[in-house]
Amino acid sequence: MIHYLDNAATSRVLPAAAEAAVHMMREEFGNPSSLHKMGIEAARVLKDSREAVAAVLGGTPAETYFTSGGTESINTAIFGAARKNRHAGRHIVTTAIEHAATLNACRRLESEGFEVTYVQPTADGHILAENMENAMREDTILVSCMLVNNEVGTVLPVAEIGRALKRKNPSALFHVDAVQGLFRLPLTPKKWNCDLLSVSGHKIGAPKGIGALYMKRDVRLAPYIVGGGQESGFRSGTEPMPQIAAFTAACRERAAQMDEDVAHVAMLKDYLTEQVNAKFDFVQWNGQGDVPHVVNLSLPGCKSEVMLRVLESKNVFVSAGSACSKGKESPVLRAMGLDKKRIDSALRISFAPFNTKEDVDALLEGLEAGVRMLRR
Ligand code: PLP
Repeated sequence: MIHYLDNAATSRVLPAAAEAAVHMMREEFGNPSSLHKMGIEAARVLKDSREAVAAVLGGTPAETYFTSGGTESINTAIFGAARKNRHAGRHIVTTAIEHAATLNACRRLESEGFEVTYVQPTADGHILAENMENAMREDTILVSCMLVNNEVGTVLPVAEIGRALKRKNPSALFHVDAVQGLFRLPLTPKKWNCDLLSVSGHKIGAPKGIGALYMKRDVRLAPYIVGGGQESGFRSGTEPMPQIAAFTAACRERAAQMDEDVAHVAMLKDYLTEQVNAKFDFVQWNGQGDVPHVVNLSLPGCKSEVMLRVLESKNVFVSAGSACSKGKESPVLRAMGLDKKRIDSALRISFAPFNTKEDVDALLEGLEAGVRMLRR
């Protein structure tokens, strides 16, 4: 039996999502742009899917575009917004704890002559709205930040940030990377003064390779991918109907169960916290996780890579940080100012609704074995 506790990296596909994908691959496999009956059927599924996903993102179907995932959605928003508004200014505000999809898009824009301010987090992984506001200037054309941090689970004050931006600079665009927030918190882009919002399917029980972008009605960006004019000309490419149908099925299931899921995951986090505090009095908690599905802790003296191997030998799967950083030192923990020993022993545990107390017990057993071995 496996104990998979790395759901912020990716998660298991829900049965309903897998069935929806297989159905679209095997039965309703037409191209939504085809004019015959098979195409019309696929187009109907696409329309239904867009309506369902739009409701989840807090927008209308016309404001909802399917992409190949979180990264494409974020790149589309950031490059599109920067290039569209370059005549108005060259300054962008983001944070030092963003996902690589945002940080590397910003770095590329710097090489194209844009100036980027990276707002630093507090020692507990929070981004203060006032620091974001102080970074905004007259020539700021874009603010991009995440809703929930993928390594420490902090929630960013997006409503305050959006309000401050529109007060200071109404024509600047506000993009929110909500990849780790989907089905952990309600998404309300209109309340947040948010123009663009990105989500990804594989964090919520859909397959990899599908995501979406909310783009507010009056915002128009140049398309990032051009071709056959699908997605109202904004994102060309034959629509990946199996992924779209699977994402929609996952959204429907997760939306219907969101409150129970959040309560269940919160129970698991409380149990883990209580047990870890009781067993390892030297534990250091990294960041004040505001959402329960991401927990980050350090057991100084127990190197993450070695601990991961000990846990893996017991079929327990967690990570040392973001999957994209692949063993490199976490830029998020470094930005929080944590010392090297603490960063080197950091573990990220991330829950999905399918996890159980038995998974936590298996993790605790693995950690005890690791600590006995590594802290002799
Ligand atoms: N943003 C955050 C906060 C993430 O955790 C991830 C996932 O790794 C992404 C963006 C990228 O999403 P995707 O893997 O769908 O490209």
